Amino acid sequence: MLMPPDYHMHTPLCRHAVGEPTDYARRAVERGFTEIGFSDHAPMPRDNFDNWRMRADQLDDYVARVEAARRAFPQLTIRLALEVDYLPGQETWIRELAARHPWDYFIGSVHYVSDTWAVDDPQQLGRWKTHDPFEVWTMYFERLTQAAASGLFNIIGHADLPKKFGHRPPRDCTPLYEKFLAAAKRHGCAIELNTAGLRKDCREIYPSETLLRLAFEHGVPITFGSDAHAPEELGLNFAEAIQLARRVGYTRCLRFAGRRAETVLLN
Ligand code: ZN
Ligand code: FE
Ligand code: FE
Ligand code: ZN
Repeated sequence: MLMPPDYHMHTPLCRHAVGEPTDYARRAVERGFTEIGFSDHAPMPRDNFDNWRMRADQLDDYVARVEAARRAFPQLTIRLALEVDYLPGQETWIRELAARHPWDYFIGSVHYVSDTWAVDDPQQLGRWKTHDPFEVWTMYFERLTQAAASGLFNIIGHADLPKKFGHRPPRDCTPLYEKFLAAAKRHGCAIELNTAGLRKDCREIYPSETLLRLAFEHGVPITFGSDAHAPEELGLNFAEAIQLARRVGYTRCLRFAGRRAETVLLN
């Protein structure tokens, strides 16, 4: 089976992933991929913002490591990208990052629902005790909508990340999803099917089938990502993700080169 590109993987520069880009590339070739993309956690304007991303002065090193993987595996198409945190007010910084290297795509991710709370951070799990899930979903999707509308990103990452630890609002979130998806459609943003959710407490691909069905109805295109933080995780559960995409109606996904999209048929 011809696999769609795996567009979400990390490198040791983010301080919580293992394996060099060449190791991921080797794994990709073994697994029958013809295209992958690196999208490590982008630096913040301040290096001490948190401790799970590369520093700004490591950006050139990151690009060099991806280029080394390209040289080692010329038969594999390797895209150069970043997973960029969207925080309101950082638009100028993100534009500066975009101008620094010939990126193929930017994944815009919301991890921070406030200036200090990353919803997927296990060390901040305690914060859920004082927050109602619907309130968190609302903050999260407000930011995700802003991220999509910023025009800074080609793909929106793990579009329902707050479910990671199994918290889910008992209320209908359709209005939150619709607002986000309308913005994504309007600004030409894709969303990714991120299989890392299957490895977390929520045991479900990001986003949920409910959100993905709405995305298809809104005409929002998709990409695929394993969010690998180790070479063994590359391409994990892609068969399941493709099945989910097909079930809701998708017959194609996107690939990116030089920040421009091209359509690929799903096998
Ligand atoms: Zn990470
Ligand atoms: Fe992420
Ligand atoms: Fe990631
Ligand atoms: Zn991610």
